[in-house]
Parts: sequence; C-alpha cells; structure tokens
Amino acid sequence: MDHIVSLAKVTKRYGEVLAVDELSLDIDRGEFVTLLGPSGSGKTTTLMMIAGFETPSSGLIHINGEMVVFKPPHKRNIGMAFQSYALFPHMTIFDNIAFPLKMRRRDKKEIQREVARALELVRLSQYGRRYPRQLSGGQQQRIALARALVYNPPVLLMDEPLGALDKKLREHMQLEIKHLHESLGITVVYVTHDQSEALTMSDRIALMNEGR
Ligand code: ADP
Ligand code: MG
Repeated sequence: MDHIVSLAKVTKRYGEVLAVDELSLDIDRGEFVTLLGPSGSGKTTTLMMIAGFETPSSGLIHINGEMVVFKPPHKRNIGMAFQSYALFPHMTIFDNIAFPLKMRRRDKKEIQREVARALELVRLSQYGRRYPRQLSGGQQQRIALARALVYNPPVLLMDEPLGALDKKLREHMQLEIKHLHESLGITVVYVTHDQSEALTMSDRIALMNEGR
C-alpha cells in the first residue's frame, strides 16, 4: 500500500460524454508516470480529478493513503504546472513564485528563503525582479515550474507543460524536468500527446484511448 496516488475505477461523465471510463492506476512514490494519448482521450480530465478541480462521477482516488474525492485542491498539497496556468503578468517573478506561499500564510523570512531556493532550482536566481513579459517562453515555463515546486509538494502534475515551446527548447526542458525529478525524488504525473517526449521522460507510460 505504498502507492502515493491511486485511482480505482474512476469515471467522469459530462452529460452524454464519457471523458474517463473506469480508469484504475496506481503510482509509486518517486515514480515518473506519463499519460500518453490523442486529444480527447481523457488525460486532462484525469489530472484535474487528481488535483481536485473535477469530481469523479464514480470511483475512488487516494493520495498518500487518504481518500481525497471530497477534498478541495488547496488541501491536497499537489504542485501543478499546466499550460493554461499562466504566470500573473502584473506580478514580478518573485511575487509569482511567492504566491502559493502567501496563500498558505507563510511568514516573510520563509517566503524569501523558499523563493530563492525555487529560483535556484530552475537556475534563474537573477530574475526575481523582472516581470513575466521580460522573460523568454522557456524561462517563463521554468518560473511556472518553480511556482509549482516552491511549497515542496510530494506530487507534481504537469499537463503538456512544454507544448508552446519550439523543438530545441522543448528537448532541453525535458532534460531539466527529468533532472529535477531525480534530484528532488518527487512523484510526477505528466501528460503529453508526444510519444518521443513520453519515452524520453517516463519510468512508466499509461496509454490512454477514449477514456480508458
Ligand atoms: P485530453 O486532455 O486527453 O485531450 P480531455 O480530458 O480534455 O482530453 O477530454 C476528454 C473528453 O471529455 C473530450 O471528449 C472532451 O470534449 C470532454 N470534456 C472535457 N472537459 C469537458 C467539460 N468541462 N464539459 C464537457 N465535456 C468535456
Ligand atoms: Mg488535455
């Protein structure tokens, strides 16, 4: 029972649409698991249910041994880097990364320290005072990653985080994310429709098709 994330016969319906169909998946602590499948196969819906932004129509989800289906996202202690989860344009890089810590009411000194550590992780220590528009696409993606990692979540969810980047940068970021996974020992649930990306990064690949 050492699975950090466990889905048991999880189903999600949107009216007539069966987005996820009795999906069962157990993920080990420290594992890098990728959901790979075509558009519309239920990958994002699955991540949203793990994160707590969607509730399954049926089935159970356990995180760290606890049944979380009725637990709100901010109490699940999960890091998220989604393509749609853009940086806040009116905030500095420092404030963007500090945001999850402020939400959790951490004190100022700790925020300073933890933001510095997160910036170091993604090798952008000098960029705290800039605004997102003053960074390249790849740098912004690394900041989004730093924001997801800043409160040391045991599980990190990533939904096509590199989709907007060109090929060269994407391959570079794949290696950086892989390196972070190995050095932090964090559990990663990664989503992509790119087969070579999945093969490069994953310990295990879950192939998704029509919600299964
Ligand atoms: P993927 O991420 O693999 O592209 P999704 O999980 O986004 O797939 O979608 C799975 C299916 O569920 C698709 O048919 C999609 O149209 C449908 N779907 C997703 N979200 C909603 C929603 N909020 N309302 C209705 N249908 C949805
Ligand atoms: Mg998707």
